[in-house]
Amino acid sequence: MDFVYTCPGCEGSGCDKCGGSGQFKLEECPRKAIPYYVQEFLDYAKLYKKGIPPEHGGALDQLHSFNVYSQFAWGELDKYEAELGLTKRGF
Ligand SMILES: [Zn+2]
Repeated sequence: MDFVYTCPGCEGSGCDKCGGSGQFKLEECPRKAIPYYVQEFLDYAKLYKKGIPPEHGGALDQLHSFNVYSQFAWGELDKYEAELGLTKRGF
């Protein structure tokens, strides 16, 4: 399965960066381009936004896999709620 996204430089109208197609084909996981420590910071920032601070007693005391899969589960719940037209939960 190919994943294609709109060129952020021209927003689909075509430019030199996208070869005039207005699109880019995703050929590898974009997380490979982001260093691990940046990914970890972004993950903690997302948890902090949901009220789980990166401190002892918070996200730092949870298993890494719990933090990762919680974010996956929240994303899936948000997606299904959006598809059903439900309002956002409080977090
Ligand atoms: Zn472009």
